[in-house]
Amino acid sequence: MELEKAYNPKEKEGEIYQMWEKGGYFTPKKTHKKPFDKTQGRPFTIIMPPPNANGALHIGHALFVTLQDIMIRYHRMKGDSALWLPGADHAGFETQVVFDKKLEKEGRKKSEIPKEQLLKEMMDFTLSNKQIMENQLRKLGASCDWTRAKFTLDDDIVKVVYSTFEKLKQDGLIYKGNRLVNWCAKHQTTLSDVEIKYEERTDPLYYIKYGPFKLATVRPETKFGDTAIAVNPKDNRYKNYVGAEVEVETILGKAKIKVIADESVDMEFGTGAVKVTPAHDFADYETWQRHKNEIPGPKIVIDKYGKMNELAGPYAGMKILEAREKIVADMIAKGLLDEKEIDKNYKHNVAVCYKCGTVIEPTLMDNQWFVKMTEKPASGGLSLRDLAVEAVKNQEIKFTPQRFEKIFLQWMENLRDWNISRQIPWGIPIPDEKSKLKTQKSKITTEENEPEQVFDTWFSSGQWPFATLQNTQKGDFEYFYPTSVMETGADILFFWVARMVMLGIYITGKAPFKDVYLHGLVRDKDKQKMSKSKGNVVDPLGTVEQHGADALRMALVFANSPGQDIAFSEDKIIAQKRFANKIWNASRFVLQQANTLQTSDVWKSPDIGCLIESKADEEILKALQETSKEVTKDIETFQFHEAAQKIYHFFWHTFCDVYIEQTKSQIANCKSQNEKGNTANILLYVLRESLKLLHPFMPFITEQIYQMLPNKDAKALIIAPWPE
Ligand SMILES: [Zn+2]
Repeated sequence: MELEKAYNPKEKEGEIYQMWEKGGYFTPKKTHKKPFDKTQGRPFTIIMPPPNANGALHIGHALFVTLQDIMIRYHRMKGDSALWLPGADHAGFETQVVFDKKLEKEGRKKSEIPKEQLLKEMMDFTLSNKQIMENQLRKLGASCDWTRAKFTLDDDIVKVVYSTFEKLKQDGLIYKGNRLVNWCAKHQTTLSDVEIKYEERTDPLYYIKYGPFKLATVRPETKFGDTAIAVNPKDNRYKNYVGAEVEVETILGKAKIKVIADESVDMEFGTGAVKVTPAHDFADYETWQRHKNEIPGPKIVIDKYGKMNELAGPYAGMKILEAREKIVADMIAKGLLDEKEIDKNYKHNVAVCYKCGTVIEPTLMDNQWFVKMTEKPASGGLSLRDLAVEAVKNQEIKFTPQRFEKIFLQWMENLRDWNISRQIPWGIPIPDEKSKLKTQKSKITTEENEPEQVFDTWFSSGQWPFATLQNTQKGDFEYFYPTSVMETGADILFFWVARMVMLGIYITGKAPFKDVYLHGLVRDKDKQKMSKSKGNVVDPLGTVEQHGADALRMALVFANSPGQDIAFSEDKIIAQKRFANKIWNASRFVLQQANTLQTSDVWKSPDIGCLIESKADEEILKALQETSKEVTKDIETFQFHEAAQKIYHFFWHTFCDVYIEQTKSQIANCKSQNEKGNTANILLYVLRESLKLLHPFMPFITEQIYQMLPNKDAKALIIAPWPE
């Protein structure tokens, strides 16, 4: 019954985790009966956002592990059937990028590796990373149910993904189209609207002579793809031209081009007349859609490698920027562009790939799969968008912090159809009757196959809550779905949360979770983004090794209010390590006092009040009860930082600094052995209950000490009853 002199987290944490895992404590028992009674335990479910199985866990992962584990441990102690379902994501495009870099480092070319071998290598790479990642989750103390772990490429998950795709198809919500898509020429794949970001850039704005017009453009190289000139119908300057075909001089000779009137043209921009290039601009593409009968369709002039094609005449084969420079020079020489009129400080927003920063080329591509977001399904009911909007408006789903509700609804307003096909090898292949047929044929013929496409990884992870629970244990879906809380990063609200809400309701008829809790980014102490190049990265596993998982967890949650970015540094972990030492030393003192008691004298009855000998005793018990109430309320309302600060303050200042100090003289002045025993019992009681309150935040040290207590009220702290 004595603790070692110094607290040494490294030595014990692994052992304690094994004790929990082997004890089966992470696996909930489905003991509560439906309909679930409010006063009794009930299911509490969190589906873990499956980390990408392509590298080590970073500090952001450590944050989500801490927050979710706090909720799970709290609910488990409260007597709920607490399920935290872990998983791993094959992470399509993300993993492809990581793997491509690895190949590059090894001096190998992806194009030279046979596809089958490439996929095998990628699977080995992903599975070995998955194993590393799972062990790292253990090191962080994640009390998730490993017996239910799922991987996004598990056969049963893929089956669910295909069946959802089929249902969407049946409902007329999937179409395959030749449509304008976001194209990253570096990564050679399309990207969805949420995978691009906008950067403000300064580029020259050119005024090109176009017959009687002068058109402002930042992209003169796309002019070979022009199919019309557009003006605003209210613009009196150009009234007489609308509907006419004008002859214009171009660098490739004379050409005829139609003038159309469209309300989208901004009369204030440039000269109020713009060129329409439907194959390379989203707005122009839409303009063409509105004037399909008047003007020719899109003319592609840039290929998928970002080079000019044969329609660009002498500029064919040049890269975009190179061609732009050349074309401008030639136009100046030919008098089609006045050098003095170039506006060199034109600021505009440019779409770039969120991964590599390459400027996104809007490109017309064949065989792209889209999900209709705003159309009603053939079988009846609301569109995918409206299903989600309604669930949020009806408060079936609530956001913490609340401001994200508005952000969510605003984004939903402007939703475009979702491009779910990617041109990378890594992912779930899109089932396509035509390509299936061809694959069979290819055994006898060598006819060129249309490149196989895979699903956007968010199409599968967007089905994660129901796809997992439908395929773990029998009855899980009925018991644990809808889940309780979706805790994730605010940065993937649209990528992931929105898609889960839409697909979850569409497939199951129920919103996949009741609460969405969003956390911010973990930044460095100056609130700069952590990055390897800046050298300001805090490696979570390295700090666990050095200071213990408890110190890291407490530091992450301590100053972290919902939705806000966190300023973080190692100092904060060291400060919490000091707190862990304080807990250790205080516990040693209490256990030393307890050593004076006979085992039979250890107080186990709930009515601790009859042991009170002094005002100090009375006050500490009152403060403990007060703190328990507050901490409970804070956890229930997702104010984890408040809960952490209160229990920290209680333990350090109220219990250690005040009460323990007072008991030293109280014990010294005791008149009887009985009085002494009463004080030792109050010390033991307050320690035990404090350990319970601390456990969700600092699970390892609290369990280690609990195991030494003579007044244990459960086999392990992880399942001990939460203080009421
Ligand atoms: Zn890219």
